[in-house]
Amino acid sequence: MIYLDHAATTMIEPQVLTAMKPYMRERFGNASTYYEVGAESRKAVEYARKEIADSLDADPEEIFFTSGGTESDNWALKGTMEAYKNKGRHLIVSSFEHHAIGNTCEYLKKQGYQVTYVSVDRQGKIRLDELERAIRPDTVMISIMCANNEIGTIQDMREIGCIAKRNHVLFHTDAVQAYGQIPIDVKNWNISLLSASSHKFYGPKGCGFLYIKKGVRTMSMIQGGSQERGFRAGTENVPGIVGMAYAAKLSYECMDEVGKRERMLRDWLARRLCEELPGARAIGSMTDRLPGNLNMYFPGIEATNLVLLLDEVGICVSAGSACTSRDTTVSHVLRAIGLTDRQASSCIRITLGRHTTFQELNIALQEIIRLVKMLQKG
Ligand code: PLP
Repeated sequence: MIYLDHAATTMIEPQVLTAMKPYMRERFGNASTYYEVGAESRKAVEYARKEIADSLDADPEEIFFTSGGTESDNWALKGTMEAYKNKGRHLIVSSFEHHAIGNTCEYLKKQGYQVTYVSVDRQGKIRLDELERAIRPDTVMISIMCANNEIGTIQDMREIGCIAKRNHVLFHTDAVQAYGQIPIDVKNWNISLLSASSHKFYGPKGCGFLYIKKGVRTMSMIQGGSQERGFRAGTENVPGIVGMAYAAKLSYECMDEVGKRERMLRDWLARRLCEELPGARAIGSMTDRLPGNLNMYFPGIEATNLVLLLDEVGICVSAGSACTSRDTTVSHVLRAIGLTDRQASSCIRITLGRHTTFQELNIALQEIIRLVKMLQKG
């Protein structure tokens, strides 16, 4: 198998799995108990919290463990809007957020909140003037994803943070695709809340975290025990938390080197595809972009057919994001950057990972060329 869908999920690193295993058998204790086997779990959870906090130059008290990106996004939006409802009920998001944000906004609207959607340009960059103009006296928060899951565009985080600070509104970022791939500076970017998910950076599935800056108010989304300082009840997923923290550490250690390699391989693939296939082009900014992300448009083909044919020869890519690839609606991300529905349904997402080799990419290149030509002939 040639796996080129790392934006959907990544395979857990063997060392991460090894670090997790003891917490499933011999150190299985509940982190809320006082005897030794429980205390060991508590120690591991707090060590992991410190490691994650260090990766963001944050305080351990600012890190809250969750079940993943979707939960972190839901908590960030619902919990914070609720906590500040006396200030206002207005929220600003971009028009191409992940459904974890988009559908949470739909829910909030049904609860009486107002949401403004800020548009993005053809490169996938937020229009900053439009963002600032959208802020009203009752605006509580801006939520803008750090990097897009379909086209990999990285936003001008520092500028967005300055706009939030200048206008006294909170700034949440969905960093599920960005954390572990690119450096993140919560202080310099003025971030109030940040969501991340372990399975996107070679950690286990079902684990994530929400960074909440000290002083930012929030409400608990899950009622029950007093775990996570009463904000997120439920027995801690100790193996998951241990694995996530270890995976984060590994990602930060190799970030520069992996980023350089992925960027070089990605640009090579884009260039070769454009040389070989008339009309083919890369979608979105090629500079402010996650290193491993490539989204390619091939005129006259149906991307879902190409994905299925590639699967038959053992190559995994996707048409749209993983969460939408099973439905047939046109990508709201590609629409948001100005593609027609016809163009949007002719795009595939290829996402490289830290173990992707040149040999694998070369095979993928040949197969994509062959299959696109075949589909274009009809
Ligand atoms: N936000 C973004 C940008 C994502 O890409 C994803 C997953 O693809 C999520 C949120 C949801 O994360 P999780 O799968 O951990 O629930």
